[in-house]
Amino acid sequence: MLGIESSKIGAFSEPLILVSTDFAPSDFSLVDKSKILAIVTEKGSHTSHTAILSRSLGIPCIVGVEDVLGRISSGDFLLVDGYNGNVVINPTAEILRHYTEVESVHREIQKIFDTSLPFKSETPDGTKFKVEINISGAADIPEGSMRYCDGIGLFRTENFFLENGSFPDEDAQFESYKSAALASDGKPLVIRTLDLGGDKNFHLLKQAANEENPFMGYRAIRFCLDHKDLFLTQLRAILRASAFGKIRILLPMISSIREVERARLLIEQAKEELASKRADFDRDIKVGAMIEVPSAAITVDIIAEVCDFLSIGTNDLIQYLLAVDRVNDMVAHLYEPTHPAVLRTLDSVVSAGRKAGIPVAVCGELAADPIFAPLLLGMGVTDFSMSPKSISEIKFLLRKVNFSTARALRDEILSMKRSRHIVSRLRSFHYETMQPYIR
Ligand code: PEP
Ligand code: MG
Repeated sequence: MLGIESSKIGAFSEPLILVSTDFAPSDFSLVDKSKILAIVTEKGSHTSHTAILSRSLGIPCIVGVEDVLGRISSGDFLLVDGYNGNVVINPTAEILRHYTEVESVHREIQKIFDTSLPFKSETPDGTKFKVEINISGAADIPEGSMRYCDGIGLFRTENFFLENGSFPDEDAQFESYKSAALASDGKPLVIRTLDLGGDKNFHLLKQAANEENPFMGYRAIRFCLDHKDLFLTQLRAILRASAFGKIRILLPMISSIREVERARLLIEQAKEELASKRADFDRDIKVGAMIEVPSAAITVDIIAEVCDFLSIGTNDLIQYLLAVDRVNDMVAHLYEPTHPAVLRTLDSVVSAGRKAGIPVAVCGELAADPIFAPLLLGMGVTDFSMSPKSISEIKFLLRKVNFSTARALRDEILSMKRSRHIVSRLRSFHYETMQPYIR
């Protein structure tokens, strides 16, 4: 109204640090990602999709910084310490020197982790595990990574929709999934069907329903089962791509066996449609459910009956179990993965999966957390799927932990009552394991 032009978010040519009250995953499509050195926001938390996407892009991201716009002005020189969650405004020469050293120490440690890459994913006492990567498209697969990781454990397809700003047609989706299948080099590729909603800020969904509480709302499988044409389009695209790689279909936000059954019927329908056109696809494609809603976790033995594999989405599972919104910085301190309720639930999901004789993966952020990975191993998790950047650290670590030791850790932790005691035990276990290698 005042005739003042607001500057467009994407209109910058120099590399810079983005400071904002909020930055939604859909905003990534508005900017040149290669020019973003770091992101600092007031809103959000560790498992918000902005944080997850930045992590996979290797962009340091600090969320939940109070009053960022009041404290930081355009043109300020910032130092962003993503390891510890610190932002230093106009740092002194001494601070810069200190951080240059910190950076080189981290580089040295990374080199140590990378030594594990050419070796098998196996504990010293012979238990096999898999380290897999989470992607949002073939472009996220780092060059050569298929040589040292064991597959792609989660392809979040919605980011392709967000980048397009619309529902891409079958051929466009097919091309995207086929590229990932070809790049996966014969290793398993788990494609998750559309999980729009929550914090993804997809304008087409917003137009359809302005939800008060989108994380508990109309998203993922709920939306897809109601929009069969859109869902079938995606399923046909995935199935066609399965002629080019070892693709598996993963269904998000499952809360009951009925949803899996209904989705499987639609998968069969998509297969028939393709078969009538004589298209090539994997007729025996494996189908799994994400376990990320408490009702699914509690009835996982029932759901497992109709699944070929399970994948635990700890990001959502924790927020729903603890009633803590994963993007709300005001309750971020209550988002406790070490809460005994979370640990008991994880343990019972994994043991139910094992009883059913199907693999259980973890594809939420917990899989990449070095203090958690040994505990998950001890519970019986076989597949750890994470941002490509974390692969070498987790592979290095798990190759140093005997399964029997991890099992004993699991027994000890499950007998503990308090979150803070659990955190300190997991930290001390991690320290003892790594200390001989990293001083
Ligand atoms: C999860 O919930 O843990 C998960 C992997 O899915 P997303 O983070 O995309 O919700
Ligand atoms: Mg989820």
